[in-house]
Amino acid sequence: MGVKVTLMVKMKNKPEYHSFEKDFNKLCNEAAKMGYIYIRLINDKSTSSVGHLSRNIFISKKDGEQEAIFQFSHELGHCIRFRKRFKKVNGNKETILELYKNIKKSKLLFMIDELEAWVEGYIILSKNSIVRKGFWKYAIHCMKSHFNSERFKKK
Ligand SMILES: [Zn+2]
Repeated sequence: MGVKVTLMVKMKNKPEYHSFEKDFNKLCNEAAKMGYIYIRLINDKSTSSVGHLSRNIFISKKDGEQEAIFQFSHELGHCIRFRKRFKKVNGNKETILELYKNIKKSKLLFMIDELEAWVEGYIILSKNSIVRKGFWKYAIHCMKSHFNSERFKKK
């Protein structure tokens, strides 16, 4: 009889995310439909962001793959909101930049804008049959960190 070896498998905090690439591609298609063609997945500590006029989307993987998908959907939510507003002002760049400046200045408007982008993001995920478990927990976590961010503390 040989030695019986019991392998201790260390449980990871997060379950593996098997369909990351597939889901990421689905969201890339959604981005392309709106004209956003430069999409980068970033591995460093920087945060996700979107450049509406330059048509760039940067997605951060720092919180994990599932979270990167949630963030991607959220950024697409921002894109949807932006496109609607841009249409409303007849594509006037100065007006839209002024509007966004005002949103960023007001904590209330900023948080409403954030929440709306999360809601749009959730809808995009559900339309693409992408897993949404843990979505709102993560969304609230992100909203909280915005809420506590330095630039709102002085007010
Ligand atoms: Zn946002």
